[in-house]
Amino acid sequence: MLMSEGTNLSELFPIMVDDKSGAMLWKDLRTLVLQYVMPVGRLRKFYEGIARGVLYGTRCPKCGAKYFPPRPDCSRCGSSDLEWIEVSREGRLLAHAVVNIKPESYQRYEDYTVGIAEMDDGFKVLAWIRCDDPKKLRRGARVRLEIAKIRENDIPFYHLIPAEE
Ligand SMILES: [Zn+2]
Repeated sequence: MLMSEGTNLSELFPIMVDDKSGAMLWKDLRTLVLQYVMPVGRLRKFYEGIARGVLYGTRCPKCGAKYFPPRPDCSRCGSSDLEWIEVSREGRLLAHAVVNIKPESYQRYEDYTVGIAEMDDGFKVLAWIRCDDPKKLRRGARVRLEIAKIRENDIPFYHLIPAEE
């Protein structure tokens, strides 16, 4: 027997207890480096738009589905003939959550707030919300969709901010 009753498992295994959730976690000794490489050639207009300060989504003329961030193919009806539309920058907050138990790849970030907004033209947008006090956020509140560089990696991206009513 390698251990007696009451011995802490972390003395034998790379097992730790998460401070916030109390969950038992196996922390593997190997470090895995994961880097996403995704084809984005069919979304070129989206990135060109962000570079110019414009946000584009796609809309399926066949079934009317709207996608933001844009998809090159309609997941509702299968059409690959989608059109580009500029997305409204004003909308209403449908839901939000402060994320304080973060996935491994987000551990270096402070707690952050994500939200889903319905823009005035019907596009639904999931994005980080930049605000001083997430407790003041309310469902139905007006929000704006803005483009700014992400602090942590200096890449321009979109996020939501509370708007004046
Ligand atoms: Zn469609």
